[in-house]
Amino acid sequence: MHAALGLVLVCSTYLQGADFALTGATVYPSPDARPISDAVIVIEGARIAAAGPRASVRIPKDIRILDCSGKYIVAGFWNSHVHIFTPSLLQARDGSSAALNAQLDAMFNRWGFSTVFDVASVLDNTLALRRRIESGGLRGPRILTAGEPVWTESPIYVREYLKANHIDIPIVATAEDAAARVRAHAQGGADGVKLFTGSVQGRGKVANMPLSLVRSAAGEAHRRHLPVFAHAQNSAGLELAIAGGVDILAHTVPDSAPWTAKDAARLKRAHMALIPTLTLFDFEGRKGGGSDRARERWIDKMAGDLRAFSEAGGEVLFGTDIGYTDHFDTALEFTLMSRAGMSFREILASLTTSPARRFGYSARSGRIARHMDADLVVLESDPAKDVTAFSRVTLTIRGGRIAYSN
Ligand SMILES: [Zn+2]
Repeated sequence: MHAALGLVLVCSTYLQGADFALTGATVYPSPDARPISDAVIVIEGARIAAAGPRASVRIPKDIRILDCSGKYIVAGFWNSHVHIFTPSLLQARDGSSAALNAQLDAMFNRWGFSTVFDVASVLDNTLALRRRIESGGLRGPRILTAGEPVWTESPIYVREYLKANHIDIPIVATAEDAAARVRAHAQGGADGVKLFTGSVQGRGKVANMPLSLVRSAAGEAHRRHLPVFAHAQNSAGLELAIAGGVDILAHTVPDSAPWTAKDAARLKRAHMALIPTLTLFDFEGRKGGGSDRARERWIDKMAGDLRAFSEAGGEVLFGTDIGYTDHFDTALEFTLMSRAGMSFREILASLTTSPARRFGYSARSGRIARHMDADLVVLESDPAKDVTAFSRVTLTIRGGRIAYSN
């Protein structure tokens, strides 16, 4: 059969700018669908033209074939908590393509991310990076962005970095300020809003945003159909997020008591989504220089919160806070999510269908099916057997183009 189809290439072969088909892999079309073994996916332009068992899919003549036998294919991943904020990504206008591609590969492309939500950065710079990617000048994910965060006090851990990079993000002092900031961001092209309902000020001190400001910012965002993320930090910050109408918790909450089933049910009733960012707490624990046991206990608390939330049926969105941390490897996050009781299918949903639905992209992203965006991840091994397989990427395809090839 292959003889009639012209060139057959091995799955990791670099290939650009032409229609092609992926053959022979096991495909997980969506988190709740059965796997298809010996599948064919036909990609035409930026879309999936056909996907299914080999017997049911007609492969167009003269199209290039990538033989992916022995591999596993899932829809392109979303990382719902990143920052376009590393020194090289902050040079979005003037940075060389080589330097920017290297950083985009290291952070996103090689881990299977075809869409990321940047939840605090410098809006104009992030939009410039997005334009360079969308015009084909750089290999990178679709970027949604919250731009500059809204805070009444900046958290202590970013001050030095902001200063060193000559970035000024002014505080908001009143409800009117907060609404005006959101309005300006929305008009400037932001896709979401990030609030610090709790902001670390050093040694156990947290500045909480007054409820009137949270409500004002969230109300303005919702009028413009923008999702609202919060960094809550402590129990007070969490209560403010719930009362103020926040949509998404950017992390579990470090300075709160462990979440009970009742707490989790309350968050679910508030239609709140949670981005666990468990790797962040490992990173912070190491940075803080405490004992391994203290760090493990801290991570166990966060994983316990995720477990309670997930068991309550809460919506989990995968995210790792990279760009703030340099821990780009996703394997630990999958291990910790699994330790929190999440199944392979629940983790796949957090990477694909859940963020696509939450951010209004489910008609084009999150599943492998005809007419969907050709955003795909080819994995080395079966994630159903070991969830860290989600971190071992052979190919990342974004919009029908190879963004990464191992
Ligand atoms: Zn962050």
